Amino acid sequence: MSVFDSALEQLNRAAKLINLDSRVFEALKKFEHIIEASIPIKLASGEEKVFSAYRAQHNSWRGPYKGGIRFHEEANLDEVKALAFWMTMKCAVVDIPFGGAKGGVKFNPKKFSPADIENVARGWVEAMKDSIGPDKDIPAPDVNTNAQIMAWMADEFSKIKHKETPGVVTGKPLEAGGIVGRDTATAQGGFYVWQEFLNKKSLASEQVSVAIQGYGNAGYNFAKLAQQAGHKIVALSDSKGGILNLEGLDIEAVMEHKKLTGSVVDFEHADNISNEQLLETKCALLVPSALENQITGKNASKIKAKAILELANGPTTPQADDALFGKGVYVLPDILANAGGVTVSYFEWLQNQENSKWDMDMVQKKLKHSMVSAFDLVWQKHDELKTDLRTACFVLALERLSMAFSRKNLV
Ligand code: GLU
Repeated sequence: MSVFDSALEQLNRAAKLINLDSRVFEALKKFEHIIEASIPIKLASGEEKVFSAYRAQHNSWRGPYKGGIRFHEEANLDEVKALAFWMTMKCAVVDIPFGGAKGGVKFNPKKFSPADIENVARGWVEAMKDSIGPDKDIPAPDVNTNAQIMAWMADEFSKIKHKETPGVVTGKPLEAGGIVGRDTATAQGGFYVWQEFLNKKSLASEQVSVAIQGYGNAGYNFAKLAQQAGHKIVALSDSKGGILNLEGLDIEAVMEHKKLTGSVVDFEHADNISNEQLLETKCALLVPSALENQITGKNASKIKAKAILELANGPTTPQADDALFGKGVYVLPDILANAGGVTVSYFEWLQNQENSKWDMDMVQKKLKHSMVSAFDLVWQKHDELKTDLRTACFVLALERLSMAFSRKNLV
């Protein structure tokens, strides 16, 4: 099953359960626009290269398109489509007035110089300049893209339009119109969801063992929050492999080691494990924070965690969802668990539109309120409908999308 097929299967399940209006259902299976372009670059080495670039604009019933841009060697249209579709659902789950989109460039920035990465970022904007804008489509960071890349993109767009337009992207550095707390927002939002889940299960004071796949922005910041709250991080990984210490890992020391060597692998106070073994680690909470399609029909039966918090997009396939639900493992799904990122992106966009400045206190309070309200509604639906949390999230999103559909005439 391709990633987009998995996304459609998730839609199917929820649509069936609530007998979704067939017009809404058919429209959500389609895209409003798909843009494929090429970015020709003269590399610092003098060599010339052309990279494939994408933007999938899925749905705009609830507002302008919103979603990150991924730089990855394996980026492709099927993946970008699935990620764009999930953005539509995610924005509806947390009730922010955006639709869904996603972008990508088939390009591994780890193999190129900063000047080359800047050229690719600016090239992407040049290719998409007529399709993006603060009221049209607002990109943001995703896998392998960051605040610096967003600053180059905002600058390029502003130059092309002859007008300073910071609101064209979110996730910018503070000095370029960014907002405090955007870099930690995905992890922070996930942490609020996790705490609220523990409250619902009357486990709020329990300290648990946590395994995290992926030690990028989301995985590292989640590890920090979990450790501060007294939980024990027993396993971590990145694209090169993983490490395990059932006594608990010192996450700052692991980060130092990663900065020095390029990976968490070979950290001296831990055993090396593979990414597959990390997923099967004995722990209370598993946090996939890397890429899609990690927990599948093949390994779901070997998962020992009691709950899974999806900071990555699409880490669990529908077959795995069935197996986990059958075993009583709670999956706190991506379109809720990692929605803190896009929620604070929305605050940043508002800040740019109003030409105002939010402080950390306000960001945290509003983020917590959004995440907890969304979680409570999802929990209620999962109880009422006797379904898994992913389907409950889709039901909530589909109800909100259906309302937007009727408001817009389309009835
Ligand atoms: N890339 C993030 C996501 O998948 C953030 C998107 C945004 O802030 O627009 O949710």
